[in-house]
Amino acid sequence: MKQFLILISFLFVYYSTAGIEQAPPNFKVRDKQAVFVDFRRAQYNITFDVQNHRALVETKILFEQKQKGYPLFDLVNRPLSVTIHDKEVEVSLIKTPGDASKLRMIEKELPKGIHQVIIHSEIENGTRFSTNDRKPDWGNVSSGFFIRDLRDRMFLEKYLPTNYEYDQYRMEIDVKVTGTKRWHSLFTNGEKTKVSENHYRVRYPDFYTASSLYFHLVPINRFVRYYLTYPSIDGRDIPVTIYSNYRFYNYLAKKKAWKVMRELEADYGAYPHDQLIIYGTGLRGGMEHAGATETSIVSLGHELFHFYFAKGVHPANGNSGWLDEALASWRDKGYQTVDLPFYDSANLAAHNLYTRKTDKRSYEYGRSFMGYLDKQLKEIGKPGLKDFLRVFFAKRKLTTVTTEDFKSDLEEYAQMSFQADFFQYIYGGHMPPESGHKHVDHDHGGEENPHHPARTEAEMLSIL
Ligand SMILES: [Zn+2]
Repeated sequence: MKQFLILISFLFVYYSTAGIEQAPPNFKVRDKQAVFVDFRRAQYNITFDVQNHRALVETKILFEQKQKGYPLFDLVNRPLSVTIHDKEVEVSLIKTPGDASKLRMIEKELPKGIHQVIIHSEIENGTRFSTNDRKPDWGNVSSGFFIRDLRDRMFLEKYLPTNYEYDQYRMEIDVKVTGTKRWHSLFTNGEKTKVSENHYRVRYPDFYTASSLYFHLVPINRFVRYYLTYPSIDGRDIPVTIYSNYRFYNYLAKKKAWKVMRELEADYGAYPHDQLIIYGTGLRGGMEHAGATETSIVSLGHELFHFYFAKGVHPANGNSGWLDEALASWRDKGYQTVDLPFYDSANLAAHNLYTRKTDKRSYEYGRSFMGYLDKQLKEIGKPGLKDFLRVFFAKRKLTTVTTEDFKSDLEEYAQMSFQADFFQYIYGGHMPPESGHKHVDHDHGGEENPHHPARTEAEMLSIL
């Protein structure tokens, strides 16, 4: 019965999210065909063992493989073990073509179909255990899955097994803190159920990618917290959590957040997330997740803007990340209009196809380019680029997009070509990078392997 219910609930929420079409091309490693796959769902069971200072994870991933080959995923820490169809398999760390990044390849050729992999691993990054020598039963743990987009392999793969950013998939986390009597709180951007004081279950929206999830586990007495609600223009009361070391920070963050939220909802429509989490950090800088940010007061407006462009519309790859920084930076400087970009030519979006990081010049160069697009739209009698962004956001909300998607939507809106401008100022005189597989079944690609038949989705679900 339970399995039946799981199956039914899966069928109801199942839809084919965009993704695999935006994956980089498959490639060969030592004559083996490495293949990008489409994650359907991932269950992460995490135990923070305070006595032994270890954070162990069991991950179950259900994925679809479109052609025969050796499946790819990523995890920065070396996995402790990987099991496919009940057999332990080897995993190797491989370089992508042109050395743009690294990935994990499962050393087992699998047929086209739905498969399940179970990965055991340990979380070390972002995690700190403390023991109390006088009271050995009262240790604690702090763990934050904070991400970065300007450097390689700094998304969820730094903490948990995941995929390239093109993939939107359903994630669930079950997290326990054991070996301590101290209680812990979890700040996270999903639907959270508290099983007991040190045990939470969280389910995240299906549109999340490797750069969406926010997870911050801390001892229960850490941080000053504000629990509030923000009244959205669409009538929802959005739950807001603001936490930091200082009540004064929370006060300032609340004031600024309300002001910027009103501005953004007026410009681009209703806030696209189910909650808003603000974690107050240092004096400068910040980073955005989906509806959650760790940020300074100075960067708060920039990060809130990213909840629309970066985490409301997600970049599908590193070559599309420039867009979010260009737009956020364009807003930061007051949406300026310029006659021409200040630079002759730059390549922000035609880097190696396997690049995951965003070009560092995206802010300054990208902002100038957006000011130039604004000028051109105004010249043909349109209200300007902000008006286009509202249309673009409404159309592409909760999907993953490429630079070419942005360009073609802009051309459709303006009824004019921007080919030459993108070629010169964004692609640096290169052709736009080809995105993705063609998904043609090669001669033997679709063949069933009699020793490891591809199981049906329902069969795999009964295993999960
Ligand atoms: Zn930014």
